[in-house]
Amino acid sequence: MSCYKGKYHDELIKNAAYIGTPGKGILAADESTGTIGKRLASINVENNESNRQVLRQLLFCTPGALQYLSGTILFEETLYQKTSDGKAFVDVLKEGGVLPGIKVDKGTVDIPGTNGETATQGLDGLAARCKQYYEAGARFAKWRAVLKIGPNEPSQLAIDENAHGLARYAIICQENGLVPIVEPEILVDGPHSIEKCAEVTEQVLAACYKALNDNKVLLEGTLLKPNMVTPGSDAEKVAPEVVAEHTVRALQRTVPAAVPAVVFLSGGQSEEEATMNLNAMNKLQGVKKPWSLSFSYGRALQQSTIRAWAGKAENIGKAQETFLARCKANSEATLGTYKGDAGKAEGASESLHEKDYKY
Ligand code: 13P
Repeated sequence: MSCYKGKYHDELIKNAAYIGTPGKGILAADESTGTIGKRLASINVENNESNRQVLRQLLFCTPGALQYLSGTILFEETLYQKTSDGKAFVDVLKEGGVLPGIKVDKGTVDIPGTNGETATQGLDGLAARCKQYYEAGARFAKWRAVLKIGPNEPSQLAIDENAHGLARYAIICQENGLVPIVEPEILVDGPHSIEKCAEVTEQVLAACYKALNDNKVLLEGTLLKPNMVTPGSDAEKVAPEVVAEHTVRALQRTVPAAVPAVVFLSGGQSEEEATMNLNAMNKLQGVKKPWSLSFSYGRALQQSTIRAWAGKAENIGKAQETFLARCKANSEATLGTYKGDAGKAEGASESLHEKDYKY
């Protein structure tokens, strides 16, 4: 068996390793037009291109924030947008040492015959789109596969379909110079225990790495974006140390040491929970962790910033301070040195859970 050895081989390895640099992580700002519309609606701001540009500029141009980031995932519209001074967002990011990434999936559709399980679309024409995105400056990509925990879920059909889709996406990205983020998100929805989440996470990750191997994906040139192992949204919460222990064990059992970094999604955790859980994993001593453990948060990096902004130009400074504090807190969490000082900010402990989350 030989994995990808094509012209981007060295560049993929270099970029994946860079994104996993301890002290840095990923800002997921690739909300589709519909999803960003929900965020804007929550502060009574109209969902049009100009308001989406203002929000993204607020984030990318926050003084001091880019030092805590190694990547930012963009939606196609944002990849081609500019600041109000006419500078391409891609250049702002690159100059700040942040690799631009691009969401390449086209959302999910139901798998007939299942209890609402889904497959992710977007493989048709993917190679051509990856080429264009590379030319526009993107260096990594994201594809979100979604699984759920239920009495009979995830079904083997859904596990196999999503593992196969992620592996096909991953090799197509590599052939076109983009580091694929492999994201099999197991939704938190439900009353299940943390043990159940651990069991399903291991089953799903094992299937994904089998498919990635079968498809000859170069693991050193990929990143994994999993859910953390937690109890379901309708079950009692557990301490960060318990999440850390269960999550790291599930990863040890399934994620090859060739993968440079694991960049977690926040999955509806509050901002502070997402930071504390990541910090607890990086604090674990005497435990095998051959990958760096970092963040690729959407909601948990942006929620209180969007609230502080509230769509008003005069609030941009305050909103940027909020964003900077969250980026710094998560940077510290990648090193296990976060002390909890960002936890008092307004909204930091609020649950961001949305049932049946669509991105
Ligand atoms: P959340 O951190 O809001 O779960 O989103 C991250 C993401 O990119 C989901 O695909």
